[in-house]
Amino acid sequence: MTTLFRARAISFLALVAASIATPAAAQSRPAPISEAEVRAHIAVLASDDFEGRAPGTAGETKTLDYLAKTWASYGLTSGTNDAATPWFQPVPLVERKPFAQTVQAFAGSRRIAIDTDAILLSGRNATDSVNADLVYVGYGVNADGKVNADVAGKIAVMLFADPKFDGLETPPGRREREKLLAEAGARAVLIVAPKAAPWGQIRTQATSGAMRLVKDDVGAPIAGLLREDALAALLKPARLSLEAAAKLAENPGFAGRALSVRMDLVTSTIVRSFASHNVIAKLAGSKPDAGAIVLLGHWDHFGICRGEEAEDRICNGAVDNASGMAVLLTVAQRLARAKAAGVQLDRDVYFMGTTAEERGLLGAYHYADKPNVPLDQILVALNVDTVAIAKKGAPVAIIGRGETDLDPQIEAVATSIGRSIEPSKDANAFIRRQDGWALAAKGVKSLMVGGSFADLALLQAFLSTAYHQPDDELTDATELGGATEDANLHVALVQHFADTAKYTPAPTGD
Ligand SMILES: [Zn+2]
Repeated sequence: MTTLFRARAISFLALVAASIATPAAAQSRPAPISEAEVRAHIAVLASDDFEGRAPGTAGETKTLDYLAKTWASYGLTSGTNDAATPWFQPVPLVERKPFAQTVQAFAGSRRIAIDTDAILLSGRNATDSVNADLVYVGYGVNADGKVNADVAGKIAVMLFADPKFDGLETPPGRREREKLLAEAGARAVLIVAPKAAPWGQIRTQATSGAMRLVKDDVGAPIAGLLREDALAALLKPARLSLEAAAKLAENPGFAGRALSVRMDLVTSTIVRSFASHNVIAKLAGSKPDAGAIVLLGHWDHFGICRGEEAEDRICNGAVDNASGMAVLLTVAQRLARAKAAGVQLDRDVYFMGTTAEERGLLGAYHYADKPNVPLDQILVALNVDTVAIAKKGAPVAIIGRGETDLDPQIEAVATSIGRSIEPSKDANAFIRRQDGWALAAKGVKSLMVGGSFADLALLQAFLSTAYHQPDDELTDATELGGATEDANLHVALVQHFADTAKYTPAPTGD
């Protein structure tokens, strides 16, 4: 996008903004949130004391306690709207943590050499063993979204990415395809790790344990991740190259290819059922029947993510997502302070920390199933995730741009507080990778708004380094300029959307 175009967009929006920024609104605007306030919350949440905030650990207890007590200290109340479970909404999960594995592969009687670090297995039970033939299934489904190969009694080798077949409008995601293959009788499903993600990040995720919502707990006896070099070794006896295998998968009629390889897999897995929690706070409005605004962000991260041999074992998740929670805390504080001074918002505003985002948006999906207010009363949901990226002055991007009718209002609010706008839809590449998706998929107007995904090269620099590693820590170098501006932007956005005079939702068709 050219600078010229951007400048024009801003000047047009400045006119819109001028028309909505009244002197009264300016007076009621609270003092800006400072970087020091944002830093102070991150320092607590990303401290080693919180052990990386993994669901179902002592780190969860400390995190929930800190969030609820801090919101309560500002004058907010429980937002679960359920007297039986104040503040904390239970999220029933099953966790499987791999403990030990053995992997052997044979072409006939010949043993195939595979780097044992290139396969990460997890079993459904405390111990599982599978000895079966391999079948390469590409994406695992055909253009009708049905299982494409005979996998009964076999080990299916499947690609990570979602298929892009003509006619398959909403392709089943990786977990859904894994489930379909298990239901079709696969004894194990090995997923080829995506090229874009460094193996270190994948290992963090795998060794931290796979989690599922109890209601979605379906899978083959053994599940695993395969590095590409291991796949190459397993394809070789069938004289298939990686390129040829990738090409086969693109054919919507591909019905799987037997690989002339037998694998012997044994796993030990720690299986645990437990309840983790979403934490929900409420800032009551004066017109509770006028709908609600929800601000959410995930509180969880990967916990103790490295073995005892590692120097730094804790994935602290300072940027991902202590920074987002710091925004939710500081925004709540400002709005609560304004309310105490007599400036009450019309609509109820909820602040929610979700659990198990890192394990597949699980807390957010559970909330979307069992919301604290009917979903059609949630007028706007704003997710805040991984905000400590951009410097001060970054333009405002919208994840979900073009998906709702809110873009012009968001731009006008942002412009009214001096922010510029990133007009492209580039950030929509992340639309399914964030908690807001669980709500958007059910028709809620759900967006992410801020500076950290306005410059995707800058974001990518984080995603390919400290992201999901022990290095995501709070340091003197952590950039909080953009995060603080985004916090102030969210104060203004809530003040806009929670005001019945400023925001009237368009009537829906039904
Ligand atoms: Zn993350």
